[in-house]
Amino acid sequence: ILRREYRGRKVLVVEDEPDLAQILVEYLKRDGFAASTQADGLLAMKELQRTQPDLLLLDLMLPGMDGLTILRELRKTSSIPVIVVTAKVEEIDRLIGLELGADDYICKPYSPREVVARVKAVLRRTQNAPAVSATTGASLIEIDGDCWQARVAGQRLDLTPKEFQLLQALVKKPGRVFSRGQLLDAVWGTGSEIEERTVDVHIRRLRKAIEMDNALDPIRTVRSA
Ligand code: CA
Repeated sequence: ILRREYRGRKVLVVEDEPDLAQILVEYLKRDGFAASTQADGLLAMKELQRTQPDLLLLDLMLPGMDGLTILRELRKTSSIPVIVVTAKVEEIDRLIGLELGADDYICKPYSPREVVARVKAVLRRTQNAPAVSATTGASLIEIDGDCWQARVAGQRLDLTPKEFQLLQALVKKPGRVFSRGQLLDAVWGTGSEIEERTVDVHIRRLRKAIEMDNALDPIRTVRSA
């Protein structure tokens, strides 16, 4: 991946430990990102609305407003990629269970190099998604990867980024049966440490969103014998 692909992409680092924030910004800038930091949660929320970054690196323990509240508020209006940073590895499973709509999780202590790699991976997954459309059964599902929108029979679905990516993966190959592992790889990336049951949770929510809006059920679960 060439450095220029990321040149000027805005990353907001929300982190209240100045040394950590500084190091991350340095590493991100070295790779061409336009990185800035914010140490206070409330101010971060304001800055998010003002500057609309391409990606948010979000520490959870923050003064002003904590990271979970920020993420919840943000997801009401925005699907920008978010990487959550937490000091507790045990916390990550619980966070995934909360369905916060984060795109990745990083545990402290981390290597700045690893963080930059994850930032790139998340941007690749979320922003280079091609537009596809496919018919499944009687309903027409339209996916627009550029503006993160999915429509079923012309009606826009209200999806989190992960649900959107799942639907996109399924729609790309209509009729194909995916294993949980394949969907994990397609949506969370190969080698991600996410548990397979996370896929079930997201599929359930995706199905609900489609059914609620359209009284259709284009997603079929196939049980292995
Ligand atoms: Ca902190």
